[in-house]
Amino acid sequence: MAFVLAGCGSVPNIWGSAPQPDSTQVSGYLPIQVQPPVIASAPPTVTSTLASPPTQTATPFAIPTSTFTPEPTLPPTQTPLPSKADIKRAIIISFDGLRPDAIEEAPMTNLMELMKTSAYAPLNARTIDYPATSPSHASMLSGYCMEDHGVIYNRFFMYMGYSKGMDVFNLAHDAGMKTVMIVSKEKLRQLAEPETTDVFEVAYGEPAIERTVLPQIEAGFDLMFIHFAGGDNRGHKYGWMSGEYLKVLREGDEVLGNIIQTLKDEGMYDSTFILVTADHGGHDRNHIGLLIEDYRIPWIAHGPGIVPQELSLQIYTMDTAATVAYALGLPLPEDLDGIPVYQAFGETQIRTHEKYPCKY
Ligand SMILES: [Zn+2]
Repeated sequence: MAFVLAGCGSVPNIWGSAPQPDSTQVSGYLPIQVQPPVIASAPPTVTSTLASPPTQTATPFAIPTSTFTPEPTLPPTQTPLPSKADIKRAIIISFDGLRPDAIEEAPMTNLMELMKTSAYAPLNARTIDYPATSPSHASMLSGYCMEDHGVIYNRFFMYMGYSKGMDVFNLAHDAGMKTVMIVSKEKLRQLAEPETTDVFEVAYGEPAIERTVLPQIEAGFDLMFIHFAGGDNRGHKYGWMSGEYLKVLREGDEVLGNIIQTLKDEGMYDSTFILVTADHGGHDRNHIGLLIEDYRIPWIAHGPGIVPQELSLQIYTMDTAATVAYALGLPLPEDLDGIPVYQAFGETQIRTHEKYPCKY
């Protein structure tokens, strides 16, 4: 398939970059969204020029212009609301094993603060039917079901090969974007071919993640994936929702706070799309898929054009790759199992998952 190049520094051209679909097409390239937002209280875009009053009006009195220069009549200052077109870069943050109900329980105060201006799924986002770290992360970043990406084991041996097909790192890298992946488990190398990640680092423990991530933000990036393993590690050792599990989530949340602060310091926060999610939840000391608590994941989207709301639709982890690609204006593969969460941007959700889209 062909890819449209989008420069790193430029605003992604969502509207013009993909072939225009006909109105009957339900899958494939991005449809142009012209419908009004579903959530009427906060329209995502404002075109400032339309509402501007005439700037100069004829004065009724004859004032010799040679001796008097009137103050220019400026239109009232209008700051256009940020729109999806303002998204310049994206960060996907995965807290390994984070249950949505642990966010308040911990509490993860920085994440809770972020959620106030986010579109998020309270309890209606879930991972694939094999809720293990490698397969579900592969679905998260590729947008494909396990049978398509082929990451069927929770370990990585080189002979297995990398996650098959296009993933969001392929798409971004092919578009000339700078891609960064910082993970806390070495096996996650399997998720993206080395040639599609400009930076790949493994950092063990929350402080090490912070030391690795912050300089990468300062150096500039277009797509970054950050993986915190603390919740999963403590969950296996002490139990999900245990004091130790919640404590390490707070530590990860502190790093999140510093990531947000660094984005602000660098003047990048207002143009960065942030998606916080997880690969799976857990119960007792495992997450092998016995309970809904194993499948349920947080799904929190924040950034330009996002309409803060509780999302009502069914979200699967494949939708993360689809939504991030959509946010960055990247062309979506036609056979993708994930669907962009258009609703998060206040747009009509033209397609939804009628049922679980995967075999496994
Ligand atoms: Zn685990």
